[in-house]
Amino acid sequence: MKYAKFLGIVAAAILLCGCTDTQLKNIDSSTGISTSSGNTSGENISSITTEKSEGTISKKHSISSTDTFDVYKNDTVNIVNGGELTVDGKMSSEKGGKIIIKKGGVLILNSDAQLDCDLTIEKGGKLIVGENGKVSGSGSITVVDSFDDIECNGSVTAKIVPPAPVTENGVTTVGGVLIVNKKYSIPSDFASELITDDEAGTGLIRDEAYDALCAMREASGYAMSIVSGFRSYRTQTAIYNRNVANYGEEEANSWSAKPGESEHQTGLAIDITSLEQSYGDTEEGQWLAENCHKFGFIIRFQKEKEAVTGYIYEPWHVRYLGKSTATLVHDSGLALEEFLGVN
Ligand SMILES: [Zn+2]
Repeated sequence: MKYAKFLGIVAAAILLCGCTDTQLKNIDSSTGISTSSGNTSGENISSITTEKSEGTISKKHSISSTDTFDVYKNDTVNIVNGGELTVDGKMSSEKGGKIIIKKGGVLILNSDAQLDCDLTIEKGGKLIVGENGKVSGSGSITVVDSFDDIECNGSVTAKIVPPAPVTENGVTTVGGVLIVNKKYSIPSDFASELITDDEAGTGLIRDEAYDALCAMREASGYAMSIVSGFRSYRTQTAIYNRNVANYGEEEANSWSAKPGESEHQTGLAIDITSLEQSYGDTEEGQWLAENCHKFGFIIRFQKEKEAVTGYIYEPWHVRYLGKSTATLVHDSGLALEEFLGVN
């Protein structure tokens, strides 16, 4: 028999909030926490001895701001349908431990979370990182279905393992995020609903991206004019052919997308203010790089990521992903291709 092998959540709830035995039983029965050996933890918490601890959270439960939520190396904490674990205190975890958020389960992290274990968000599960939530560590967050299953209002620097890419009708998404690049093109009629009478379409972008741009303009105080927004397949064909004619194919390919390979055809990309790389050194360009994720955008083609994206540094080209996913990509320090695992 090994001693003092606590199931993390019970230990946290008991040791740190000083629950009485009665409260302990209540927590135990309400969360359904048990060990794999079939012991319940209600009677004598200090003598739980299992090689592997399994905990199940099926109701609302919280770890207060003065407590710590621990996940030890052999623990598996399952948050199942109806289960909602709010961690207002710290979280610590060991390599080898597991947290699984199942369909209908929710984990809310509102402060420092040291994630050295593996966290899996199954389809229909939800991880909410609060404004003061900071998830870091050597562990990983596996997204099984959609990046929408993470709501990030704080920061996440732990590794995120994306789901596999899905291609349907010639359009590829990873966890719900549309990817358009030299490897993954979109059909010529994609977003044809955005085509205007003159077909130039410049300045036109999708509503959600436009709303985000307006919010960003207001917060920054900069005008942030749209140099180029939506471009149809036909427009992109004309632009690309002109660039190849003027600069040669090799050079044109380093900054001009072939038709079907341009993010501008999605209506989710905007070239802001200036098409000069020196824009990145201006106050506005720096503000954009530091803050655009808070409004849902990423700088799509970063310095030092040319080999990954296939494009030169474009401090003016932002891609709309939504606040949460843009923040995750920004915090990862990765190019979108790397973040989505399609590089
Ligand atoms: Zn662009």
